Parts: sequence; C-alpha cells; structure tokens
Amino acid sequence: MVNDTRAAGEASSSRRKRQRVPSIVEDEAGNSGGDEVARSGTLFELDLLDCSICCNALTIPVFQCDNGHIACSSCCTKMRQKCPSCTLPIGHYRNRIMEKIVKAIIIPCPNAKHGCTGKFSYGEESIHEKKCSFALCYCPVPNCNYSGVYEDLYSHYAANHKDIYKRFMYGYSHNVCLSIEAEIYAFQEYFDGPLVVIQCFKEPQGMLMTVNCIAPSAPGVGELSYNLSYSFGGKTMTFELKNMNRIQKVSFQTPEKDFMLVPDYFLSRVALAKGVSICICRIEKTEETEEEEEEEAE
Ligand SMILES: [Zn+2]
Ligand SMILES: [Zn+2]
Ligand SMILES: [Zn+2]
Ligand SMILES: [Zn+2]
Repeated sequence: MVNDTRAAGEASSSRRKRQRVPSIVEDEAGNSGGDEVARSGTLFELDLLDCSICCNALTIPVFQCDNGHIACSSCCTKMRQKCPSCTLPIGHYRNRIMEKIVKAIIIPCPNAKHGCTGKFSYGEESIHEKKCSFALCYCPVPNCNYSGVYEDLYSHYAANHKDIYKRFMYGYSHNVCLSIEAEIYAFQEYFDGPLVVIQCFKEPQGMLMTVNCIAPSAPGVGELSYNLSYSFGGKTMTFELKNMNRIQKVSFQTPEKDFMLVPDYFLSRVALAKGVSICICRIEKTEETEEEEEEEAE
C-alpha cells in the first residue's frame, strides 16, 4: 500500500497550478501471491497525468492519436475527434497503459493534514475534496482568524465568543436584530452545534438577506432548513429554503441567489432591521446510516 505521508497539495481551483506531491506507483500485479512484494517507484510530475487540453485529471477512457498524443474523452468529443496537437484522428484508440497508470496512482485527500485518511485514485481526490468533512471552516467573528475542521470551530466559537453569545434551538422561532449595512449576525445551535450566519446587503432595490451554515458540504453535516421572515407595519414576508447553503467562510460579496429581498419601501426607517425572525430545522434523515447525535432539544 501507499505510505507516502507527506502533506498533500493545497486546495486550489486551478488544477494546473496545484502543487502535487509525488505519489507512489503501485505495481499493477498487486500482491495476489501473498509473499510477493509489490514494486513501487515515485512519479515526480503528476501533471503528466492531466489531459494536456483541458488540464483535468485523465480519467478512463484515455485516447491517443496515431502520433501518440493523448486526450481525455470529453476533449476528443469537443475537438471533433481531431488531435489538437497534430490534427490526426483521435478517439478511436485507447491508451491502455496510461489508463492503468492513472488507476494505479493513489493520492491522499488534500485535507490529510487536518485528519482525513481518505486515499483516492488520481483525479478522484478532487471529487472527494468537495464533500470532505475535514475541509477547513473559518470563524465568522470579524478579526478572529481561527480556522479548523467544523467540530473544532464549533467548540472554538462556544469557548471564545461568549461576549456575543447567541443561540438557537431547532424548530423554534428566534427574533434577530440586524444592522442593514452588510453586517453579519452569527449564532450557534444551543448544544454547541452548527454555526449559522445571517447577512444583510443593502442594495438600491432594498435589502438582501442570506442565511448560511458554516460547515463543509459533507453528508450529514450542517444539513439544515430554514424559514426567514421579515415583518414591518403589520405586514410579513417570508422566505424558506429546504436546504440551507453551507459555506466554509463568510463572504461579503453580494449574493446572486438564495437571498430574501426586502424591497426598499418595506424597510423600516430605523437603521436596524428589526422584525427579522428565523426558524431553523434539521433536515430529517432518511434511512442512510448517520453518526449518533444527541436527542433534539425539546
Ligand atoms: Zn481533456
Ligand atoms: Zn496527435
Ligand atoms: Zn478528505
Ligand atoms: Zn473565533
């Protein structure tokens, strides 16, 4: 098995720029013989395993032209079966050895340094990374630079930000007092559970409000729904989302979707958006096995 323990590359949107740690190539023969020792070696340029056209990790099938240039199957289709390097036909012949190599390379999860023990075939690690529960989450409190895996962040928040302690309970409505000027309102589940952040964005047409849970996009983590309402002058508008968005870090960019728009004429003239209330619920679990959790607060 692979035992390269060096840290994996940092997560980055640019695959090509990504710093990859050399990984060990396993002998394809495996160790079916029992006593056989798998031969191994080191590949220093993992970029060789990326499609030279789209720069994504090569996945099976890998095709080659008559000159031996290789491309991934989606690029073959996009290039209408013409090799981008030499224009000879491509997409008919598979490069089996490259397919075997891609399959034999094992990459640790980029969050290995935070405790993830997952190891994946080349290219699969970036798919896993998007829903890895060890992804770093950042404290929403301004000027606090703490980051950690979500459970540590929740403990950090409970232990360090008591001065602005705000709590919510699943299934209960909570009144929230927000500042309209792009302020954030963070609050935590009563039993040191998920952190939820409400944000306001003042726009010419009114005020946008978003609600996000600070959690990785891993199954079973921070899966919440919410009902947000705003009342003013005896009228109420509501916004409901069955799946609260999960974010790892608070962003102050004006949201493009999943926000409630309170029209300008409907805003109180006071600088604070009073009259906001929110009810957060946990998404009911299906038959999938989930980690044990404390009984819901009554
Ligand atoms: Zn490609
Ligand atoms: Zn070619
Ligand atoms: Zn992981
Ligand atoms: Zn903090």
